[in-house]
Amino acid sequence: MKIDLHCHSHYSDGLLSPQELIDRAHNMQVDVLAITDHDTVAAIDEALAYQAGQKRKLTIIPGIEISTRWHGFDIHILGLNIDHRHPEFCVRLKEQAERREERAREIADKLAKAGIEGVYEDAQKLAGPGQLTRAHFARVLVSRNQVKDFDGAFQHYLGKDKRAFVKPKWPEIGEAVSWIKDAGGNAVLAHPARYDLSAKWLRRLLIEFAQAGGHGMEVIHPQLAPDMKRQLASYAMEYGLAASCGSDFHFPNRWTELGKNLSLPDGLVPIWRDWPQLDVHCQTANA
Ligand code: AMP
Ligand code: MN
Ligand code: MN
Ligand code: MN
Repeated sequence: MKIDLHCHSHYSDGLLSPQELIDRAHNMQVDVLAITDHDTVAAIDEALAYQAGQKRKLTIIPGIEISTRWHGFDIHILGLNIDHRHPEFCVRLKEQAERREERAREIADKLAKAGIEGVYEDAQKLAGPGQLTRAHFARVLVSRNQVKDFDGAFQHYLGKDKRAFVKPKWPEIGEAVSWIKDAGGNAVLAHPARYDLSAKWLRRLLIEFAQAGGHGMEVIHPQLAPDMKRQLASYAMEYGLAASCGSDFHFPNRWTELGKNLSLPDGLVPIWRDWPQLDVHCQTANA
């Protein structure tokens, strides 16, 4: 079984439509795919409807990646196996969308003050049906040759405390966890090794996340050195968190692929253990 519980469509900063994502998942022989756009579930119904007409089996897990704020860090919390139509959850996402929109306008204002005009309109064009993320602003800055590459856009303008940085008003971790639980899902800490936290702060994050009712953590995610992989697995055991795995796929490139190299280390409880859509055989998934 190939299980990938983290990827993006063009409803956030991914480049593929839900249909293209599913076609690709079929080609990569993925069996279970969670679509987890930033702060939106817009892809889910389209994905479910498209998969329903396919010959090859693929279990779609409704998901989300919620932006939160913790001690000045942007921490991402995945909601897996949520009821994406849950009315209260949808109201909260509408509020997240408003926060995103407001921040996008402020980012564009700051860029304009730095002499780069009209980025909001270009970013919106680029985003198409998707909500605006900093990734869209970064792509515009690259296409206008204001920076030499995507990372440069964050280093010079969009990253923490840079020229066009706007402090987001994201909710706290505990709030996101309760939204997800209220919508019947499992809250999972996304890519713990990607926040540039020292070991002490990472432990603190894991402890607070578990205390807030967090259910699991990504133990397998992109750009993980082997010793970090072992470290994350031991944290999952120590803090009683279930293990998840995801490619965080945004678009086809050399480094990430749907469902690739995502096997969980032995001895961990897979986040999907009690999911009704997956039978017991899945416990040895990605082996
Ligand atoms: P946002 O949720 O609008 O803050 O945008 C965050 C997205 O931008 C992330 O999901 C990444 O895809 C991308 N991103 C954020 N920070 C960086 C960074 N320092 N370098 C490269 N990409 C980044
Ligand atoms: Mn992203
Ligand atoms: Mn993320
Ligand atoms: Mn992601």
